[in-house]
Amino acid sequence: MNQVIHCISCDKIFVRTPFDQWPEYRLDQNHPARAIQVMEKDDFKLFLEDHRGHQLEDLKILEDSYISEKPYYEPTKISYVKATNGKESFVIKKFREKIKDPLTYQLIAGDYSLKCISIEMEEEPISKQIEMEFRERPLSSKKVASFLKVCRHLIEMVDLKKLERAPGESTRPLEIYYKMDDFLLMYLLRNCHNIFKGEEYLEMERFIHRHRDEGVLLLKATYKINLGEKQERKKRTVIRSIPLEVKKSIEKKK
Ligand SMILES: [Zn+2]
Repeated sequence: MNQVIHCISCDKIFVRTPFDQWPEYRLDQNHPARAIQVMEKDDFKLFLEDHRGHQLEDLKILEDSYISEKPYYEPTKISYVKATNGKESFVIKKFREKIKDPLTYQLIAGDYSLKCISIEMEEEPISKQIEMEFRERPLSSKKVASFLKVCRHLIEMVDLKKLERAPGESTRPLEIYYKMDDFLLMYLLRNCHNIFKGEEYLEMERFIHRHRDEGVLLLKATYKINLGEKQERKKRTVIRSIPLEVKKSIEKKK
């Protein structure tokens, strides 16, 4: 778990991770014989020295509040977590512009919420799966099209609050998969009665049951991050990995 220290006096934050205390190895130009020198580096100590005598507070990161517009493995993504000092809520924005850049953390007073912008059943995977599983006795393309049309109608009746999330994580945090509830399942089966008859209907019913919990018949909801920022507070930024010497020379130039 990351530890977040907030300097109230300067409105800056420090995100403490185990990486801060890794020593840095540098080539000593003046003494090539010694070649490599270990530079003891403790960013947290530097932060505390910079903010000696200031009013500091701990922020607690809210569990499971991580969110990002891009997949988890994307190195240059912007991500957010919720944090609190016990009284006020904050959002910590984490980002880097280029892969080589250090991570930048920004403290925003306020909260974020997720807004659903679309719900869909993924038609292409459904068609492909039907084609594969009904290889012995293929369904006519007209019937498949009718089935997809029923799926589209079904979407219009979805109430996300009533649905259960499907197991397994999506690599894209803003895409969440849900299972059909009994109401939607009944709607789908009832309408399939109008499209498929006899053995074909029974096959289709089995197909639906196979795919409703973790297969192609999940409902995909796409969300958007709504950042609710309190206007009266300024944004606070700290670039954690700037070495002390650089920081001092920046300050002198001001
Ligand atoms: Zn300070």
